[in-house]
Amino acid sequence: MNHLPSEIRSEAGAGLGGLHRFGSASESLFRRLYLRLGRQRAAQQASLQARLITLQQRQSSQLERLHAIFASLEEGIIVQDTNGKVTMMNRTGEAMLGGKRNFWGSALGTLFEQFRHVQTTSAELMPLGESDEMPLNNRIVRAQLSAIGDENNRRIGTVMLLRDVTHDALALRLKDGFVAHIARELSSPVSVIKLAGELLNAQPEDATVNQRLLDKLLRNVDMLDQLALELLDIAQLQAGSLDVLRQPLHIEQVIWSVVNGMDAALSSRGIDLLVMARGLNGVQVRGDDSRLQWALGHLVRNGADYAREGGYVAVAARDEQRGDKRYALVSVSDNGIGIKPADMPHIFERFYRGDASAAVKAPRGLGQGLYVARAIAQAHGGFLNAESREGVGSLFTLGIPQVSATIG
Ligand code: ADP
Repeated sequence: MNHLPSEIRSEAGAGLGGLHRFGSASESLFRRLYLRLGRQRAAQQASLQARLITLQQRQSSQLERLHAIFASLEEGIIVQDTNGKVTMMNRTGEAMLGGKRNFWGSALGTLFEQFRHVQTTSAELMPLGESDEMPLNNRIVRAQLSAIGDENNRRIGTVMLLRDVTHDALALRLKDGFVAHIARELSSPVSVIKLAGELLNAQPEDATVNQRLLDKLLRNVDMLDQLALELLDIAQLQAGSLDVLRQPLHIEQVIWSVVNGMDAALSSRGIDLLVMARGLNGVQVRGDDSRLQWALGHLVRNGADYAREGGYVAVAARDEQRGDKRYALVSVSDNGIGIKPADMPHIFERFYRGDASAAVKAPRGLGQGLYVARAIAQAHGGFLNAESREGVGSLFTLGIPQVSATIG
């Protein structure tokens, strides 16, 4: 609301304060708005031209102020007459619906129908039922429907207040799932380490070290290390900051560390891992080796998880000038199931899991990997972007500023 003049802001603050608690019956702002809309329409039909002009001038400036307030709200607002005709919808409401036309086909249309029969009200603004969460255009929205009453307690319209609660709802839903997920991720490397340790321990003291067992043990210790790092990053992000080391690194080495650590596991699943890193020619960045490995590793793991039978994941690197910075660009592409256009705007949001994640055989993760990976890229002064075509594949591009650009 910062772009509004202060008097409008204070009117908005005073008038709409109560609306932040859904179901507030003390609010008369909507009733005023509604009556004004009605009066304006009545006035337009009146024959007295002069009266009409004065009335319109006065009311249109008031209406403009109200519209400015509504337009700037984070809540969606939809005002309807008794027949359900939408007489006002603010920008947020329209965006939540994905267009005015979607109203009757959405859960909001059903909500209106549920209370269409109510004719009388006990207050100027009477909540109709409890506020409820419902799916709306790929989001989760909390909606409260209230009847607007006139002086004689007759219902003259309704107002819907909508708040996007996707993030809170998913976080709540996944809180327990998160603990279970961590337990699952921990249990597999821990049991391998335990078994390998016991076998090594059972060997006679003078026997040569079983290199294969030792390698297996070390690989699984690495997996635990990665998991600990992911948890640490999530904790730091929750606290509001993510600190990364700024060590000189050859980006090519970061790529090969990731690829060598994952190649065997991917080929055993029938997925080819391809690398094209010649374009880098010793390019250096300043960064955090383990965090960059984690971010890149997550992109490759996703590529494999959302791959199709016999598919591939390709890691390609090059250096490129973008604006005033020179970047090391690492792209991870796959020919997997791709991402639905409706999912695309949300995949970097915390806890967001697309439709596709339910379709793959072994869904892993909680939908926070890309959120953490992007935060890592940004903490390096870089970026992480995605492009995808459903049914064709996906391309993720990680950009990290080069040493010359960062040290200057
Ligand atoms: P997770 O993989 O744990 O669900 P992410 O944050 O890594 O969480 O990804 C978020 C969502 O993005 C996934 O649920 C999935 O729908 C989509 N996604 C990510 N990478 C790919 C990919 N390579 N191919 C298809 N969909 C992907």
